[in-house]
Amino acid sequence: MGTPPGAAGAGYFGAPAPAKRNDPRPALSPQLEMVFETRRGGDHSIPPPCSTPLVVRDKGSAGPHHMRSTLNLVPQTPALFRKLKLPFGLVINPMAAPGLRDDPIPTVDLGPGGPVRCAECKAYVNAYFRFVADGGRMVCNFCGAEQPVPPGYACPLDMEGRRRDAADRPELCCGSVDMVATAEYMAGGGRLHAFLATLPRRGRPASRPREVPRALADRDALDALHPDGAAWGELAARAAEAQVRPELYCLAAGPYMDVASLDAFARGAAGSLRFYPGFHAPADAARLQDDLRWALARPAGLEAVGRLRVSTGLSVGRCWGAFHRRTPTDLHFPAIDADQALAASIEVDEKAGGAGEAYAQFALLYTSPAGRRLVRVHTLALPITTGRSSAFRGADMDAVLALTARRVAAQAPGKALGACRDAVMAAAVDLLVAYRQHAAQQSDTSQLLLPEALQLLPLFSLGLSKNALFRRGVASWGWNDARLDERALWLHRLLTCPVEAMASIVYEASVFFGKAVPPATLEGLLGAHSLEALGPAPAPLPRLATPLSAAVNALLNEVCRQRGRLLRTRVLPAGVGGVDAFFSALVEDKAGSAGGSYADCLRQLHRAIVNKLS
Ligand SMILES: [Zn+2]
Repeated sequence: MGTPPGAAGAGYFGAPAPAKRNDPRPALSPQLEMVFETRRGGDHSIPPPCSTPLVVRDKGSAGPHHMRSTLNLVPQTPALFRKLKLPFGLVINPMAAPGLRDDPIPTVDLGPGGPVRCAECKAYVNAYFRFVADGGRMVCNFCGAEQPVPPGYACPLDMEGRRRDAADRPELCCGSVDMVATAEYMAGGGRLHAFLATLPRRGRPASRPREVPRALADRDALDALHPDGAAWGELAARAAEAQVRPELYCLAAGPYMDVASLDAFARGAAGSLRFYPGFHAPADAARLQDDLRWALARPAGLEAVGRLRVSTGLSVGRCWGAFHRRTPTDLHFPAIDADQALAASIEVDEKAGGAGEAYAQFALLYTSPAGRRLVRVHTLALPITTGRSSAFRGADMDAVLALTARRVAAQAPGKALGACRDAVMAAAVDLLVAYRQHAAQQSDTSQLLLPEALQLLPLFSLGLSKNALFRRGVASWGWNDARLDERALWLHRLLTCPVEAMASIVYEASVFFGKAVPPATLEGLLGAHSLEALGPAPAPLPRLATPLSAAVNALLNEVCRQRGRLLRTRVLPAGVGGVDAFFSALVEDKAGSAGGSYADCLRQLHRAIVNKLS
């Protein structure tokens, strides 16, 4: 059985740390739910890892399900930022499904004038706006502009200079709010659920078979991950302009259906894509039904436009995700749901934190399922640091992994397979070299030194480099390499999945029963007396009235519950395509998956770091 970080609700801090391991792994003990206040005593709280179940209390900053920063302490100057080589960015899931006991997102109606905004930079009023001149003027925390408070919104200040009504106004005390939008924000739209089973050969755009019938070598470029012609991107733009969001279900009965082109269509129109390789109705119907049910039930907004703002000294760099872009700053979504995350890199261009902290705000104008036009505003305040080691202490492993995965995946189309894997490892090496040069307490080069907050960086980098998108020569679904469609699927997932899903993507859970399985186990679990009696086709795991069947099904149900979706369970008799997929998930092993073992990876990283230092 693999070791699932997210699946079993296990957390990195769950078990008492064994005496300083030099090959850190996620701990596997179950985690208790933790009440997480987004700020404590007026200060930013560092979110625990994604695997910790949280009840979020909004104390003025958005919760980590909505916005997670790779850095919880922002280097103050561009010089310090460049020196530390820490990736800075945000993973944003504006419509994330709230936990049952989380603080709900309040809705505020500021009247016919609509949401209060900075006249200069258009940031929305938030808990960090300062009010001065007896409450008659306000100072924006994003650009620093002082301006009169709009008529009807002014309020006297208390002895400490706070508005007397601040605690009663959600927009002044919460990190996440829905503001009622005025008529000028109105737009007009729909969702398209398309089920595909074969290569789309006819009409326009159409695809051709592009899969090379041989295993790829490291020097082979992933050209066929580009869409088959510009028409796919044009179709996406037309769909987005018409407010149509494609939600594609690729039920691949055959070997190839050009998921890369379908992904370009889906992603360019803020759509989604689900892929069922080797689709076999008896085994896959339950999962398809569950995926469809969730697609219709999950929290979603329609006709949405989003924009990310950051405070003075910072700037927004690249954005990754599924959206349509008409202007450089606005991201358009015919529809956006709880499974759709964006990521954006942030640069430190000038001295940051003039207004005390660094701020980020993602505002999403959308239509709610009830037909209301709202602006969802998520604001995150991050403290500034001048310290080198504190910047490393404030790093967030899940967000760093999500940002690295997006950056490397986005460059994969057209790039050589080996160069993609090298890019994953080079990112880890650069960061660890900078840590050693500027922040580590020791200077002993005989050891691999890992920052406390990034202990899992080598393991997750290894897992990412072994993802099917970058893998070489590993048999999969009856083929002698990762299928091209499989690579394209992972490109889609790595670019769009919520930060909570990342750890289980690069370090996934599988269950395997080998040939030596006792007949009684086989009987109790599968109702078959021998492996031969299983038949040649993959079949779903049966539910039998035996204690073993009940226990295994209960375990799998729990994994599904934790992941928030039905997972495909299949019984794969030996020799059937798909068994290889299991072996390829053995990230820590040398056998089965391309590349070395975890120990090899640690040695290789250490050697690369020492080389760079000398
Ligand atoms: Zn402003």
